[in-house]
Amino acid sequence: MTRIYVIDAGVLISTWTDKKKDASFITTPGIIQEVRNRLSKFRAETLFLLEKMQQREPSHDAIAYIESTATQTGDSSVLSKNDIDLIALAYMLKNEGFEPTLVSTDFAVLNTASQLNLPIIDPNDKFSQRITWGLKCPACNYKTKSRASSVECPVCGTTMRRTPLKKNKKS
Ligand SMILES: [Zn+2]
Repeated sequence: MTRIYVIDAGVLISTWTDKKKDASFITTPGIIQEVRNRLSKFRAETLFLLEKMQQREPSHDAIAYIESTATQTGDSSVLSKNDIDLIALAYMLKNEGFEPTLVSTDFAVLNTASQLNLPIIDPNDKFSQRITWGLKCPACNYKTKSRASSVECPVCGTTMRRTPLKKNKKS
């Protein structure tokens, strides 16, 4: 099986891809459009020219699956369309028999991918725990597993905030 790195826009800002000499990279067309920084653009264009990187759209089925997983982990409110597509691409490649590793600096992306047991790399090495999010009332400390992005506290009516309910050490 072929190891393939599914890379986020933030990864192209760093020199991470430069260090992976014999690796294959893949990303989504949406992520490429997100790349604005000149050095990152140059890096992406070079990888395309060298045929070390491809771009591919994830399937609708994969996107729907990731959306439902992100709702369960509580990450859906902070994931962009591009984030969802990128995780869906990694998930789809895994189902096709590849060995995808998702490379991102975005904790919500890494968190959702790790819940799906997709291998992940944080080039900055800051992501260490996977988190299940819930809501907490800042006034009375009422907690709920509700995954809604914003909801009023049933006890005191204050707008509740996203809070980590459960942390698992990275496996
Ligand atoms: Zn409250």
